[in-house]
Amino acid sequence: MRIERLILAWLWLILMTFSVNASAAWVLSDDTQQTDATVPCCELYVADDSSLSASQVMTLPPAAWQSLPTSRVNFGFSAKTFWVRLTVDNRAAATKQWILALDNPLLDVVNVYLQSPSVPLRQVAALAEGDTGRLVSHPEYLVPLNISNDPGVSTLLVSFQTQGAAELSFSVWDRDSFIAADHRRSLGWGLLFGALLLMALYNVLLAVSTRVMSYLTYAAYVSCATLLMAGLIGFNSYYMWPNSPWLQHLTTPFLGGATLLFASLFLQQLTQVDSKRIVISRWLRVIQLGTVSYLLLVFVLDYRTAVLVFAGLVVVVVLSLLSISCWLSLQRVALAKYYAVGWFALLVGAFISSLAYLGWLELPVSNFTPFLLGAVTEVVVVTLTLAMRVGQSYRGRQLAEKSAMEQAHRVRQVQDKSMQMQAKANADLEQKVQERTFELEVALRELADTNRELEEQNTRDALTGVRNRKYFDKRYIAEQRRSRREQTPLALIMADIDHFKQINDTYGHPVGDICIREVASRAAEVVKRPGDVVARYGGEEFALILPNTSPEGARQLAERLCSAIRDQGVVTGVGELPLTISCGVACLYIDPQLPPETLLAQADKALYQAKQQGRDRVCVFITEEQQVE
Ligand code: GH3
Ligand code: MG
Ligand code: MG
Repeated sequence: MRIERLILAWLWLILMTFSVNASAAWVLSDDTQQTDATVPCCELYVADDSSLSASQVMTLPPAAWQSLPTSRVNFGFSAKTFWVRLTVDNRAAATKQWILALDNPLLDVVNVYLQSPSVPLRQVAALAEGDTGRLVSHPEYLVPLNISNDPGVSTLLVSFQTQGAAELSFSVWDRDSFIAADHRRSLGWGLLFGALLLMALYNVLLAVSTRVMSYLTYAAYVSCATLLMAGLIGFNSYYMWPNSPWLQHLTTPFLGGATLLFASLFLQQLTQVDSKRIVISRWLRVIQLGTVSYLLLVFVLDYRTAVLVFAGLVVVVVLSLLSISCWLSLQRVALAKYYAVGWFALLVGAFISSLAYLGWLELPVSNFTPFLLGAVTEVVVVTLTLAMRVGQSYRGRQLAEKSAMEQAHRVRQVQDKSMQMQAKANADLEQKVQERTFELEVALRELADTNRELEEQNTRDALTGVRNRKYFDKRYIAEQRRSRREQTPLALIMADIDHFKQINDTYGHPVGDICIREVASRAAEVVKRPGDVVARYGGEEFALILPNTSPEGARQLAERLCSAIRDQGVVTGVGELPLTISCGVACLYIDPQLPPETLLAQADKALYQAKQQGRDRVCVFITEEQQVE
């Protein structure tokens, strides 16, 4: 097993040596657009002494140089001076122009020297972060190589120093190809930063319209992450503060810390762990406190220490947030799952990039690439999550609106129904009231009729059907008043059946009653005027009130009454019985001076007279004056 490994290692060494020997120089041909990074052509010398000159370095023995497998240096944080020697073999036509591209614009100092076949070693560029020494205005460090008319092997010597990560990639480009590629790359960066800024703006608008704090936190997070990325690829120092490298040294760790702070705040707000999970909540608080302290420390720490602390902070915060969001996903906390997926990508990317920047991890690509990929993935996933959340709330609102409309429709239906019922009830009630009113009116009429009948009956004598004594008394007073008022003569006839006691005694009371009834009936027939009153005065006596009637008229009527009784006997159960009556007549213009019973007394006197004179006759009361006449 050990032998096999040894053989493999040996073969690898041979292969590497062969490849190094075979292509110890980048060949620049007419077809070359960009040098192949996998072709080893670089040698590295790391100097502790920063005062070494280029010519001194060039005279160093070959053993001092170490061959690089790729055209990339990554030494993490180191204060040393790095010397890289590149060999290019120019076999292209003289029209081709070449550019040396150094992809880390955050290096503090970069010096480039060139030794071509016809020209000895000379410095061609002295670059520094910011605008200093730039030969081509571009975010990256670009150095035009004047070797077009110098075919053959040239040597490029690059030295650099930095407070940050000693990371640098080299490549030699055909100028036109570089411009074309740079355009594409610029478009890509533009799209990426445009999308990120749009995300930030969109979340600010969401926060304003919904008043949900987490959108604002997310917008702050995206903004910080975007600025951090722009800073790491050199956009900030190139576009925003080209003459202030110190600002770059301040903003990079500051933006990094702020990104971590907003990341932890967003996780806290999105999953609302505060009230439910005290341990996680406290943990997040500690992280936030740590990041805030770091943000303050950034102002006093030097750049290198700040970046180193940041790298450590990234590892702690990344692992914490990742494990919290994973745990919350397992706990089925809403949205934590998506958050975990999106942030997993970003945090893993940031983690890998941090390790690479620290020099603990060798990457085949730029140290920045994992962070960039993670950030793009995270933005896409969290954007989708937010879109889902907006969609969910929109659908929820739609559902709520629909159910509210249905509810309102039902309420309207119920209202309509109740109004219909009320209208019907009102109509029924009105009809019932009308019916009842009608019934009441009928009943009242009937009652009035009955009352009238009762009153009428009350005035009638039960045996004979003519008016009774009570009625007579009332009418007697009323007619006296009228007579007095109108000065008309009032006549009164008192009639009494002759020897009635005998009939009762002979035939019994029932026969007597028949006779009384018959006399009343004939008396009622005799009187013709509607104002005349026939009343049973008592026993077998009758009284006839004759308003506005002269004594003579009253006498004649009394005579007719006597005849009506006399002329025809009364038919009874014991045969037809002959019957006579005696009548006393009195007539007066009623004088208020006279007592009210005067007329009655006069008629009674006349009746007495008729009885005295032999019965079956009429006597008219004559006053003493009349008797004297
Ligand atoms: P005279 O010719 O003097 O009038 O003699 P008379 O018998 O009629 O005497 P009087 O008028 O005093 O008698 C009245 C009698 O009438 C007394 C009573 O027996 C009778 N009588 C009174 N009321 C009624 C009644 O309602 N029915 C009957 N059958 N008899 C009555
Ligand atoms: Mg009598
Ligand atoms: Mg009598």
